[in-house]
Amino acid sequence: MKAAVLYEINTPLKVEEVTLDEPQENEVLVKIVATGVCHSDLHFMKGEMPQPTPFVPGHEGAGIVEKVGPGVTTLKPGDHVILMVAFACGKCRYCVEGRPTRCVENLPIQMMATLPGGGMRLHKGDQELHHLFGLASFAEYAVVHERSAVKIREDAPMEVVCPLGCGIATGIGTAINTTGIKAGESIVIYGCGGVGLSAVMGAKLAGAGTLIAVDTLERKLEMAKELGADHIINASQEDPKAKVMELTGGGADYAIECIGNVDVIMQAFGSIHVGGKCILVGMAPLVSMLSIAPFEFLLGKTMTGAIQGDIIAPIEIPRYIDLFMAGKLPIDKLITKNYKLDQINEAFEALEKGETIKSIIKF
Ligand SMILES: [Zn+2]
Ligand SMILES: [Zn+2]
Repeated sequence: MKAAVLYEINTPLKVEEVTLDEPQENEVLVKIVATGVCHSDLHFMKGEMPQPTPFVPGHEGAGIVEKVGPGVTTLKPGDHVILMVAFACGKCRYCVEGRPTRCVENLPIQMMATLPGGGMRLHKGDQELHHLFGLASFAEYAVVHERSAVKIREDAPMEVVCPLGCGIATGIGTAINTTGIKAGESIVIYGCGGVGLSAVMGAKLAGAGTLIAVDTLERKLEMAKELGADHIINASQEDPKAKVMELTGGGADYAIECIGNVDVIMQAFGSIHVGGKCILVGMAPLVSMLSIAPFEFLLGKTMTGAIQGDIIAPIEIPRYIDLFMAGKLPIDKLITKNYKLDQINEAFEALEKGETIKSIIKF
């Protein structure tokens, strides 16, 4: 089968023939139908996160189960699934207490780029290839753990809903779950890429009062407005912190930072009022550090972060799809372009230049 392989950090992906082993215990073989192009892959491809090479990236995949390995009980051939970037073992304390995105197995899978348990099923000749996020969906097929796949309704268009495996669910989930926003409360969202715009949709759905979106690109800000932002701020033209203060009468109840940039994080933290909550979603490079006066915390301000919007995937993914199918969550508006697997480097270039919000590789 064909897959996009990264052999060395900071080099283009190579689309070539590779081999994929049969699914083993608790694993399933999924024929990938569509997969989103996401910044998170880029962070690993550029070496901003430590990562063994070579690896096959891609984690916003949707497809059809073709084969199941021994012991699989939750899926069967023919099931339509979305692959989830955050693995949940179902057994650790975080999974048991209902916070599966904090599963203890998550970090090792991300750092080692293997399937849960350390296995690798991808090869190029004698060389083993790592599975980024335990998924590796930039390929015609993927072998994943059954708990990495969520079953979805069969009438949902995979080329639209596949990013619910990562970025789109992260945005919606953060705005609804992590903030805990109540109807009428104010929120500012920094960064209007796929995650930020999804956060705008989530905040709207949750009944946000004053909903503010910040970016430096007018085109993305217009999209934020279309998706429900009451106010947009172009941070290249005015000081977003001061403007948020003015629009909210002293600071927002919540701020979400979707970029992973230290300066923007400080702007987001500076945009909340005493007792407000700032949530980090963007992946800042591992070496970056924040500098905050401890006094800020005596004022009851909170800064925290979340992986994948604190969602419980088997419950919330089908729910978001139902909302989309009912016309209440227009995630299709985020999809700007479709590419073929052979055009993957072109797709990442366009993403980096900000030309696309969410592009999809269609098989
Ligand atoms: Zn767990
Ligand atoms: Zn992603």
